[in-house]
Amino acid sequence: MKSGKQRKAELKANRVKRETTRPVLRGGEPRREVSGGTAPCNPHNLAPSNSFGLPEFAQRGYYMDVLFKCAGCEKEEVWSATRQKWWYEVAKGSVESKAKLCNACRRVERERKAQARRVHLEGVAAKLSKQSAA
Ligand SMILES: [Zn+2]
Repeated sequence: MKSGKQRKAELKANRVKRETTRPVLRGGEPRREVSGGTAPCNPHNLAPSNSFGLPEFAQRGYYMDVLFKCAGCEKEEVWSATRQKWWYEVAKGSVESKAKLCNACRRVERERKAQARRVHLEGVAAKLSKQSAA
């Protein structure tokens, strides 16, 4: 039978061994967030919301770059922390909303909307000029 002292020494040796051989990255999955970009969150600037409690980024106190998949082309793109801050605090986007389209798809969508608006306004203008001519 081992004495308490011996047992203690053994445990300590094991602990040291464990600590020195432990891999640098502990525990499974790499983080989903892209490392690097963060931006401080100011909850007072957020758009009012009916939901209870603060959104995740407000609880954490800062925004983090996140990867998302574009709803248009399924490409993965980074929604950067500074752009999130702009969206939620300057543009007053809903705190429940998230990035949906990649840059390329957003540009296409913007162009499509602008085109639709032009067609609509031209139609209205044509109708008005017809009315005033009559
Ligand atoms: Zn896209």
